Amino acid sequence: MHEFGIVERILKTVRERAGERGVTKVKRVRVVLGSLAGVTAESLRLAFEALAPKEDLFRGASLEVESRQARMRCPECGSEREVEFRLPACPECGAGGLKLLSGQELYVDCFEGD
Ligand SMILES: [Zn+2]
Repeated sequence: MHEFGIVERILKTVRERAGERGVTKVKRVRVVLGSLAGVTAESLRLAFEALAPKEDLFRGASLEVESRQARMRCPECGSEREVEFRLPACPECGAGGLKLLSGQELYVDCFEGD
């Protein structure tokens, strides 16, 4: 499943950073999730809860998801707005080619551990 692959990548990132910092027990992982990243916070949590306990480093760790709403900007009039989905044209002036400023991000913000 899609979200399992994503969580595998999240765990890999944290594993590498934990190794660099000498952390042997991760307690909390915080990720930033854009609303257009293609996966929901709930499915990420479920995948995390399924995968994390398999590894000593992550056993008992919790996943925190910071959701970010997607934003788009119009290249013509410069108006910016939060969007639920990609808009084909600017609602203000009708111009096309709106730029997606954020919404597709999915990355490890930080983690805590000992
Ligand atoms: Zn516009």
